[in-house]
Amino acid sequence: MYTMAKMMGIRNLPDFSAMTAITFVDVIVCHEECTDALLFHELVHVVQYAQLDVKEFAARFVSGFVQGGSFEEIPLEKFASALEARFSENASQSFSVEAEVQQWLEAEKI
Ligand SMILES: [Zn+2]
Repeated sequence: MYTMAKMMGIRNLPDFSAMTAITFVDVIVCHEECTDALLFHELVHVVQYAQLDVKEFAARFVSGFVQGGSFEEIPLEKFASALEARFSENASQSFSVEAEVQQWLEAEKI
């Protein structure tokens, strides 16, 4: 896929081998120590996969990258990072990631 994307002129593809972690549906792969914050971020992606299904998650991930121009601008990533920050600010204050994802999907912000 990367070869084809590069042929299409897409240059700033994320280097998955250099990422600290990546989630495939419900499998989280950490390339370095998986901190609580990193695990939380990846678990948000698990919920996103569950609520969107794999095909829709992939479509939104790719379109978010193409439209945003970078990995960091992918709405699914921005949303996971925002919830990760909320978790990190006060890990003892609980909230429902499922409800947050559902609300965001309903608002079509993802
Ligand atoms: Zn992420």
